[in-house]
Amino acid sequence: MHLADEIKMLNESEAEWLHLDVMDGRFVPNISYGFPVIKAVKAISTQVLDVHLMILEPEKYIADFAKAGADHISVHIETCPHLHRTIQMIHAENVKAGVAINPHTPISSLVDIIEDIDLVLIMSVNPGFGGQKFIQQSLKKIAEVKELILQTNSKALIEVDGGVNLENAKDIIRAGADALVAGNAVFAAENPSEIIKRLHNIG
Ligand code: ZN
Repeated sequence: MHLADEIKMLNESEAEWLHLDVMDGRFVPNISYGFPVIKAVKAISTQVLDVHLMILEPEKYIADFAKAGADHISVHIETCPHLHRTIQMIHAENVKAGVAINPHTPISSLVDIIEDIDLVLIMSVNPGFGGQKFIQQSLKKIAEVKELILQTNSKALIEVDGGVNLENAKDIIRAGADALVAGNAVFAAENPSEIIKRLHNIG
């Protein structure tokens, strides 16, 4: 019921992307929402819709998410045995393609895909629930991805998702992040747009 109000707040805030977590109750132990909600968000949001698919067999739904209004679609490397093909499917919909990696997945698994993608989404918590604590080891992973991007001349941006707040944002940016996803830090605050502004000013 409050979704429309929150989207209006975001439209007027300094946030540039609206990150949507889609969960299936199988790849992650939680269920979020599907196409109807994304379409409803798209109808009122003026921001880039950054859709993060935490679902098994994401390739089955790429066209539907594109149709629902996704500007970016990120799939988990852990769910994609044919990752290159899945990335091609996303690009065929004229949508920017991202690859998300869980905390235990090594950066080396990105070597053969890094030049083909627009985003690397580094999970800095185990995906499934909001409000978790940032895994400190993620800073090293961000730096490793940055190094890989520089080595390969990839155009991919680094997005960091999980436990981001005003205290750790500076270190995350310094490690090489281009985009920060903040959930709890923003929405649990008394004045969300003020927190967004302060996060934005750190970068
Ligand atoms: Zn996410």
